[in-house]
Amino acid sequence: MKQLIFALLCTTLMHAAATDLATSGAPAEAPLYIPLQPPKLSAEHLGTRVLCHRPVRTGGPYMKIEQRGTTSIVHNYGHGGDGWTLAPGCVQHLIDQFHAQVDVPKEEPIVVIGAGVVGLLTAYMLHTSGHSHITVVAEQFEDLTSHKAGGFCAPTGAQESDPVKKELMHKIGIASYKFYEAVARGQKPDVDAMGAWFMHAFLMPGDQRLAAWEDDVMQKPTSVLVQFPNKKRPYQMKLYKDAIFLDTHRLMASLLLKLKSHMLSVKQRVESFDEISARCIFNCAGLGAQDLKALDDDAPMVPGQGHLIMLKNQDPYKIDYIIGFKGGSGITKDGRVVHHSVYMFPKQTLGAPETSIGVLGGTYIEDADATTPHEEQFDLMVERARYFFGQ
Ligand SMILES: Cc1cc2nc3c(=O)[nH]c(=O)nc-3n(C[C@H](O)[C@H](O)[C@H](O)COP(=O)(O)OP(=O)(O)OC[C@H]3O[C@@H](n4cnc5c(N)ncnc54)[C@H](O)[C@@H]3O)c2cc1C
Repeated sequence: MKQLIFALLCTTLMHAAATDLATSGAPAEAPLYIPLQPPKLSAEHLGTRVLCHRPVRTGGPYMKIEQRGTTSIVHNYGHGGDGWTLAPGCVQHLIDQFHAQVDVPKEEPIVVIGAGVVGLLTAYMLHTSGHSHITVVAEQFEDLTSHKAGGFCAPTGAQESDPVKKELMHKIGIASYKFYEAVARGQKPDVDAMGAWFMHAFLMPGDQRLAAWEDDVMQKPTSVLVQFPNKKRPYQMKLYKDAIFLDTHRLMASLLLKLKSHMLSVKQRVESFDEISARCIFNCAGLGAQDLKALDDDAPMVPGQGHLIMLKNQDPYKIDYIIGFKGGSGITKDGRVVHHSVYMFPKQTLGAPETSIGVLGGTYIEDADATTPHEEQFDLMVERARYFFGQ
């Protein structure tokens, strides 16, 4: 069914492009002209305002195995705005390291701290690699940053100067893409295939987020002209036909189901690793890792605040693409730098009506937590989106 929808979408877009070229008489190499339906953005189409916080660590995610006496602690936290994109690759990399460095029988008790995408994928991958005694301990299992995230599988492109780490992060990104590709094709046992979708993604020509994956796992993009009905001129953009959209709510639900069926879960805050009697601990506490860090990790963890708006009363067949326009920066009322962009993904909340589809983003305000919500950013975001989409 998913393949059919994707094929239909491709056909519609290509037909529209071909028709336009035929009538305009443009040369064959001219960018494809693609009429796109924008999301509806008047007041009755704007749903829940979502405020959430990326677990940002200076220097990128911390991924190391620490030995404290006889206890092995596998740290995997601080993925910032890339948690969904990098989680499968990071988790697999650390489990491989763990198997190489720590001699544990498969029935040895393992405790995973955290039930976000990093913690749940860790439990899932440990279980699928044969471990039989896994417990996930988390302060919260629902309504996490991992549920609220947009769901675009694309590294945000943080500049990495260390060539070894750069190469590792590249490999991790490729492994993640392949993992989600397998989910989308229904090849991952116990993971809902509807949680990952191949989708058309329209990005600005200078947007380098997916560039590193071209040729490795993704095809090169096509240069296109995107026309929204109410905009005088089209946008020159690049179209990736094999981008992946992640339905975060659906993926979290199926990973949680796997956890509840095959492993143990405990809802509890962990104050210190000493509270845990198991000799193998995976620390996937996201922002909470600020209080549960590795002994040699002096990089601070800070919340990277983000604003999103869920859309409603939309035509679900028209909200079937990813679009992203990198914006600029400004200063908030309390003097913080806010980076803003306009993007829209076809995100849905589980159980919501079919017409409640689409999420509008977004902002990035470093070192701002829930005590400084910057509410005004929601209205500013809508203003920018209305201008961009011609609404
Ligand atoms: C606005 C926004 C949009 C985003 N969009 C994208 C996107 O499109 N693509 C992408 O790849 N990423 C995106 N992200 C980033 C992504 O959401 C995060 O990187 C990811 O969710 C982090 O997952 P996590 O498992 O590390 O943390 P979390 O989801 O925050 O989970 C942490 C877990 O640890 C538990 N915990 C913490 N401390 C303790 C403790 N002391 N004891 C017990 N339990 C503890 C928590 O209860 C929770 O269960 C976005 C983020 C934001 C804010």
